[in-house]
Amino acid sequence: MVHTFSADGTFYLFDNASGALHICDALTAEVVKKRNGETYDLRGVKEEDVKEIEEEIAELEKQGVLFAEEEKEIPAKSEEIKALCLHICHDCNLRCEYCFAGQGNYKGRSEYMSFEVAKAAVDFLIANSGKRKILETDFFGGEPLMNLSVVKQTVDYAKAQGKAHGKKFLFTLTTNGVLLDEETARYLNEEMENVVLSIDGRKEVHDGVRKTVNGKGSYDVIIENITRFVKMRGDRHYYVRGTFTKKNLDFGNDVLYLADKGLTEISLEPVVTDENSPLYISEEDVPAIAEEYRRLAREYKRRKAAGEKLFRFFHFQIDLDGGPCLRKCVSACGAGNEYFSVTPWGDIFPCHQFADLPEYKMGTVFEGKLDGKIRSLFRDNNLYTRKACENCFAKYHCSGGCPANNIRKGGDINTPYKVTCGMMKARMECALDLYAAEKSEENR
Ligand code: SF4
Ligand code: SF4
Repeated sequence: MVHTFSADGTFYLFDNASGALHICDALTAEVVKKRNGETYDLRGVKEEDVKEIEEEIAELEKQGVLFAEEEKEIPAKSEEIKALCLHICHDCNLRCEYCFAGQGNYKGRSEYMSFEVAKAAVDFLIANSGKRKILETDFFGGEPLMNLSVVKQTVDYAKAQGKAHGKKFLFTLTTNGVLLDEETARYLNEEMENVVLSIDGRKEVHDGVRKTVNGKGSYDVIIENITRFVKMRGDRHYYVRGTFTKKNLDFGNDVLYLADKGLTEISLEPVVTDENSPLYISEEDVPAIAEEYRRLAREYKRRKAAGEKLFRFFHFQIDLDGGPCLRKCVSACGAGNEYFSVTPWGDIFPCHQFADLPEYKMGTVFEGKLDGKIRSLFRDNNLYTRKACENCFAKYHCSGGCPANNIRKGGDINTPYKVTCGMMKARMECALDLYAAEKSEENR
């Protein structure tokens, strides 16, 4: 199908099967809508003008760049595991109001992962990685820096085992920044391929939801630690990862605020929380959020035109040039099949979002085998098994939504969470618009 949309007065046609993006005029967009069976408006337009446009469309169709045939690319059913998320610490030094992890302990017991469990997890990953040479390990929490000694032991062990087995480990650590002093920053810069830093943006926004154990705002200590870390980081990968809630639907200002602080790699995600929470984002908020994405995209373009310092907003990054494999992402993150999370006591779950749901326990790192039924639920359900995604223009970039959100909010793995769908589509239009602007600049 072909998606029509406009951004700042420019009309676009996006053909998701071929990945082709065309700039067109308003009339052509209406003709395409008619062909799509959508509501259109061709009142007062001469028949011969419509015919001429239809002929141009037919020509592009012949070239395979408009109304292209959908070719289903069913993902291979690999049994190789590529990554583990180690819950190195089920405890936290913050008490964020929206915490997905029960403020550190996943609504269970507070516990720190021992080196014994971490070692078994590394062994499990190597033993189940087949021919894969690159293996990924994420240190996650709660707050993993509260158990830094085990992080260090695990890194040393994984590197040594990797060498012995012909594998290379890439490490990532996600931290709220409270304990990110200079010495720790040096260590992370040496060992971590990527570091994810949690901060929500403006002081009043951040402190409104992210309090310390004593109920005080955590912004001051975090911004100092994170900005120092990013300066020390140089050009190595990192990104700041924040959350926005009902209380800051003007979250574009938080993105810009972080960018102006020199934190230029940014991801800001909508909160997914209980409907009774004052932070809850509902379907009714989606139009305002969509407009906020558009405002942010406009500001990005303005900064670019003015030669000001830019930022990279994760959701505005899109690759239409990377070929069909890159373009058509059918099974998203790989949770539950190639990627798993491990609790401090060694239980395996599809990802951290399931760690408080005992029915999703898939095994332990000590037993070394996984529940086949749960694994096939995650492996065999993908974009193509999600009816609601069939005609969605964003499908090859969204992959049918986050499995955890689908299950928790949609009711099952194949039912997308409508609130995030609306946001995904709005972000995608912004990303396409920015992509087109970038390309036309390159070709100037
Ligand atoms: S820092 Fe993360 S784990 Fe800790 S309370 Fe906040 S959201 Fe939860
Ligand atoms: S989950 Fe929603 S946005 Fe994503 S492909 Fe499906 S319908 Fe589209």
